[in-house]
Amino acid sequence: MTGSLAGKVALVTGASRGIGRAIAKTLAAQGATVLLGARDAAKLGEAVGEIEAAGGRAEAIALDVADRASIDAAFAKLLEAHGRLDHLVNNAGITRDTLVLRMKPEDWEQVLDTNLGGAFYCIQAALKPMLKQRSGRIVNITSVVGLTGNAGQANYAASKAGLIGLTRSVAREVASRSITVNAVAPGFIETDMTAAMTDKAKEAMAASIPMGRVGRPEDVAGAVAFLLSDAASYVTGQVLSVDGGFHM
Ligand code: NAP
Repeated sequence: MTGSLAGKVALVTGASRGIGRAIAKTLAAQGATVLLGARDAAKLGEAVGEIEAAGGRAEAIALDVADRASIDAAFAKLLEAHGRLDHLVNNAGITRDTLVLRMKPEDWEQVLDTNLGGAFYCIQAALKPMLKQRSGRIVNITSVVGLTGNAGQANYAASKAGLIGLTRSVAREVASRSITVNAVAPGFIETDMTAAMTDKAKEAMAASIPMGRVGRPEDVAGAVAFLLSDAASYVTGQVLSVDGGFHM
């Protein structure tokens, strides 16, 4: 497939559903070979089928970002098959919402291990080929609540704020090797993660957004594709909000 990302190999974690799936579709439509990572192999297969039906190149890699051995195995497999990695999008994420006084240690650990630990281990694994290539792009999906905090989401907000510190630190470490590291901070995006909200709560949320609507996964995918494109080759260590103006 031709396109601005033709010849690039991209790994997107959490690509079986929601924002990650939209990112994978967008990158494939721009010509990248996209490796879709998540735990649910059946859902991954559906997402890969959808990309292939549209003429794109995609492969499923079953992985659990909270499990370092699983990440190591996935990277060994992808490097054996492709010999390089150009783009890493750390998108896999979970919530376990509750007030801080009620938060169980496992609610804290699962969210931090998945959202922050997973990104850290994937970055470590991805930097090996990227440093050899002397090129690469990493995008971490943080959240508006990593910038503002949110009652009932101390674990999630801490993981997302941590991702911003991770982004900027790694960006400084690898900038001289032509590897960029940026973050995208979505606001409220309609996916499985936000599906539990009532219509009334969604309407109230939309009313508080300057652009007057909640976001779509494709809104986030467009921003990620920009950061992976040649147009963003001099952009690193940044947090790009994609939230209809909610936080500014
Ligand atoms: P989603 O619909 O719940 O999808 C989450 C994805 O992550 C799924 O593909 C899931 O697949 C995968 N995943 C979860 N745990 C994983 C693990 N341990 N290993 C590998 N994959 C895992 O969520 P979403 O709304 O698309 O969110 C995507 C990212 O955007 C998350 O980082 C989220 O925090 C962030 N975000 C979302 C919003 C929003 O309003 N939706 C706002 C700001 C930021 P499996 O379950 O099959 O593993």
